[in-house]
Parts: sequence; structure tokens; C-alpha cells
Amino acid sequence: MKIPFDNSYAALPPAFYTRLNPTPVKDPKLMAWNADLAAVLGIETGDLAEAAQVFAGNTIPDGAAPLAQLYAGHQFGNFSPQLGDGRAILLGEVVGADGIRRDIQLKGSGPTPYSRMGDGRAWLGPVLREYVVSEAMHALRIPTTRALAAVTTGEQIWREQGALPGAIVTRVAQSHLRVGTFQVFAHRGETAHLKTLTSYAIQRHYPDAAGPMDLLRAVSIAQAELVAKWLSVGFIHGVMNTDNSSIAGETIDYGPCAFMDAFHNGRVFSSIDQQGRYAYGNQPNIAVWNMAQLATSLIQQMDDKDAAVEEATAIVHAMPDLLETAWLAAFANKIGIATPQDGDLALIQRLLGLMQEDGADFTNTFRALSTPRARDHFTNRDAFDAWATDWQARLASETGTRARMNAANPVVIPRNHRIEQMIEAAVAGDITPFERLNTALATPFTETDPDLHRVPTTDEIVPATFCGT
Ligand code: AMP
Ligand code: MG
Ligand code: MG
Repeated sequence: MKIPFDNSYAALPPAFYTRLNPTPVKDPKLMAWNADLAAVLGIETGDLAEAAQVFAGNTIPDGAAPLAQLYAGHQFGNFSPQLGDGRAILLGEVVGADGIRRDIQLKGSGPTPYSRMGDGRAWLGPVLREYVVSEAMHALRIPTTRALAAVTTGEQIWREQGALPGAIVTRVAQSHLRVGTFQVFAHRGETAHLKTLTSYAIQRHYPDAAGPMDLLRAVSIAQAELVAKWLSVGFIHGVMNTDNSSIAGETIDYGPCAFMDAFHNGRVFSSIDQQGRYAYGNQPNIAVWNMAQLATSLIQQMDDKDAAVEEATAIVHAMPDLLETAWLAAFANKIGIATPQDGDLALIQRLLGLMQEDGADFTNTFRALSTPRARDHFTNRDAFDAWATDWQARLASETGTRARMNAANPVVIPRNHRIEQMIEAAVAGDITPFERLNTALATPFTETDPDLHRVPTTDEIVPATFCGT
């Protein structure tokens, strides 16, 4: 196994991380290997048995500079001055065939100085969920971290449910810089480190940015576009804490995330989100809130703080408009409109209102709009027909609407009940449901496995997702 490491984070000041190796595990077995992604990264795989050792953390590949990153973060609105990689180790970075620099990180690889009360491990369920859902997001053309490998460790770990098989996922990200990475140095008043981090983030992600406020603007745009895309596929992240808010604008940290079946703007899945802070329709507000935290941190390094506050405020206040524009563009496409006009926003909201009243399935209803069967998804068919009449009148001035809708509305998403069934099977030693999901989700706009489009039966419904990571 040859990984062409080219590490930059390890060259930052030692205060940014702790160097340490993963903790070896008993009996690593490779459960999943993403050969397409490995090719993008320029990894020469060779023997897959060796890959199991590497991605379990038992063998440190040549050129790696393993470390755990330091960060802080607001968790459900409360500031934790120190978090950090409690169960992850950055092996290093590679510059891919596409010229993009990416982190290769093991998650579930043992304790670090930032583990607090945690065991540093992960169990097979969340590892496979992250693998499937992150790769599905990528296929849906939504910026995301990716999954390179999943291994089982041959060790048991303990969670509320009891003893569970341990596993490690190898996560690939454009970086693991978070809003929380800035917060830790801002909170400590370590301005020199904050400046170093800011330059590093600019160089790595937004080389055209002229300074901290430009960086804030670029991240705000990336986050607004990201969250609009989540909404367009019915995705609920579930833990939009500032330590899970990526500077590169990628979806990161697949914990209690879920795709909605029946549409409801207030939908929450995470069992720990009692207040609905991270509910589906509240995600734009939280993205703005998270950018306000980034602004607060970045300002600490500015000489003229009054001017910086003014500029940062304007940037953060511009976000709701960015979100609305991105949202409107995405949803207009979903109903066949190329370029939104006045009245389209209300038209889309009216449809979503009907879907919510009738508990219509988000994915299947949008997909059905390009067929004569859309009205079957509604109980109040008169209301839908009235909407459809206005919609058809609007579409009269558009061309290529069917193709546009089919390119914007996936047929298959990783439904919760399928994820749960896949995990149950994998724990029992059957990996075929995992492989089946991965295969279908690689081409989510094409019908390949119709049974996966099905909404859950009453027995299959998964009402909540648990962190139980
Ligand atoms: P999350 O809610 O997944 O973003 O995690 C919040 C913090 O808890 C991060 O610092 C994680 O590294 C840490 N963490 C989560 N699970 C574990 C675990 N099993 N062992 C150690 N640290 C953990
Ligand atoms: Mg996290
Ligand atoms: Mg997590």
C-alpha cells in the first residue's frame, strides 16, 4: 500500500494538535473499500489484507504524520472550550489527481488526549451509516466528506445497547478545519495562532480571499449553498454544532443524521435534540448562527475591531438572502423551472404546505412530479390539482422540464429503515444489504433497485436516530 502523503497540518504549530498513533486493534478485517476514491487520491492499493492493517491503525504507512486535532465548539448552543479529536487520528494529507488536497483520517481509532470520558472507539453501526450516507451525499452532488474504508476491529465495545462490534471508518475531507478550530484560539486569546490558522485556511480553501473578513464571506457562501442542498433532498444533519461546521463547506460528522420520509418542516430525528434546535427547517437559521460564531472568532485578530464588527455583521446579515437564493434555485429545479421568477417561491411553498398537510413522502412526491402519478401522493387531491394547474401554467414558458426534474429529484435516498436493516444484518455477519445500498445510491437519479424507493411500512418506521456512536 502506497499513499502519496503530502502533509501540511503537521507543519503548523504544535499547539494545534497532539501527535500520536492510533491504538492497534486485535483482528482487523476490511468490510468496505472505496476503490474509486482510492484512485482519485492516488493510492496504490496492492494487497487488501495490508489495507485492513493500515485502516485499522495497526500499520502506520510511510509518509504519515498521525495526529489528533484540537478544536472547541458550541454544542447545542453551549460553548465547550476544548473538544478535539477524541476518537479520530489524521494520518495525513494527499493531493489528488484532481489537484485537491484532502485529509485521510481514521475515526474510531482509539483514545487521544481529547477523549474526555469517551473510549475513542466507534461501533459498526455508525461506521456503516457514515460510509453509506456520506457516499450517497457525494452521488447526490452535495459537498461532503467521503468514506475510503471501513474495517471491523475484532474487539467489542460497550454502548447503552450492550456489547457491540468495534469498527473504524476512514474519512476523507477537504480538511477537518471547523468553526470550532477558530473558536479554540479565539477563546484562549491566542491571536498569533488564530492568524496562522486564518492564513492556513485561506491558502488551503479560498486562495482568493484577501483576509479574515473575506474568509468569513467565502465560508458563509459555502455554508449557505450547502444547507440549501441539504434541504433540497430532505436531509437533516442532526448535530449542527460549531465543531461540526466545516470551513471547506462540506457536510461533516454523520451522527444522528437522517433523510425524511414524510415531509414536515419541523422534523427532528436525533433523540438528543429535544428542543428541535436542529430540525429540518431550522437548519438555515443555525447555519447563520454558526457563521456568527466564526465571525466572532475571526474578529479577535483584527486591528480595527469596530470596522471588523461592522463588516462581519454585514456578511452574517447577508446570509439569509444567500440561503433563500440557493434554496429557491434548488427547489425551482425540482419543479422543472430553470431560473426562478417572482411568484415561484410562493408556488414552491404552497406545494410543500400541501405535502406537509398530507404527510407526502418528500423524495417520491418530487420524483413523481415528472410523471402523471404525482397526485396519488396526496390525500387532498383537489388541493393538489389546483396547485398543479397553476404550476403547469408556469411551466408553459419553460423547456426541458422533465429532464430538469429528473436530474434534481433523486429516486433513491438512504432511508432510515434501510440503514437500520443494513446495520442489523451487518452485525449478524451479512454485508449484502450494505453492498446493495451502496450500489443503488451510487446512481441516485436512476432507477436500478425499485424496492429501495419504497417508503417504510408502519413496522419499519424509524422514529428517531440515536447518537449511540
Ligand atoms: P460529535 O458530537 O460527534 O461532534 O462529537 C463531539 C466530541 O466528542 C468530539 O470531540 C469527539 O471527538 C468526541 N467523541 C465522540 N465520541 C467519542 C468517543 N467514543 N470517544 C472519545 N471521544 C468521542
Ligand atoms: Mg463532531
Ligand atoms: Mg460525531
